[in-house]
Amino acid sequence: MSGIDQPLGAIRRAGDALLSLFYPPHCAGCGASTVSGIHVCTGCAGAVTRIEPPFCRVCSQPFDGAITDEFTCSNCADRAFHFDCAVTRCMSKGVVRDFIHRFKYDREFYLRHALAEWAAEALDDPRLLARPFDFLIPVPLHSARQREREFNQAEAIAHLLGKRAGVPVYRALKRVRFTTTQTRLDRHERMENLRGAFRVRHPARVLSRHLLLVDDVFTTGSTADECARVLRKAGAASVRAITVARG
Ligand SMILES: [Zn+2]
Ligand SMILES: [Zn+2]
Repeated sequence: MSGIDQPLGAIRRAGDALLSLFYPPHCAGCGASTVSGIHVCTGCAGAVTRIEPPFCRVCSQPFDGAITDEFTCSNCADRAFHFDCAVTRCMSKGVVRDFIHRFKYDREFYLRHALAEWAAEALDDPRLLARPFDFLIPVPLHSARQREREFNQAEAIAHLLGKRAGVPVYRALKRVRFTTTQTRLDRHERMENLRGAFRVRHPARVLSRHLLLVDDVFTTGSTADECARVLRKAGAASVRAITVARG
């Protein structure tokens, strides 16, 4: 009997270990026990910094002050972005920033569920509800970077958002130039760095379409802007953007 039980037990234990690798029954933020499949405890979920009005109607930059009207922040006032707006509900701080980092760099792929939930909070933003979109377009990674990371974080989030919104994901863009990391560059340097980085695969498929770009974080807007620029040039009717968080 034990000869049969032992391997079965071992298989079951291995199965449980494998399952908990993908669905750890603990909060991925603080380690508190959670229901299996839920990765954020109520405490960590409540600690997320939400973007509340007033915020910039273009880039969603929050403003600390008493403005009741719609406004455009100084960053957006002196440049013409090629996207109509970038919507998000969370600031890239604390648990949100930590999850994005672990998702991208430590390959904790299961965190995509929590990240997509945060991104999905922005789906009912009036700037998105004002007009339906035809496709969700993930911001692409260069193929060399994607091989190294094993997945494109924007695409993983886009697939979950697409299911939620009932809108297809279309990989309209290809990253044709390998760009150095943007983190240490200022706004102007980022724009220069990204120039010519993206190509539209099939312009006819985006012609006259309303598109929603998907990315993990919105920082200066340079990436979304360059993606939107080539999509508009290819004939897209409009480009908006949605991200998990704002830097
Ligand atoms: Zn927690
Ligand atoms: Zn702005």
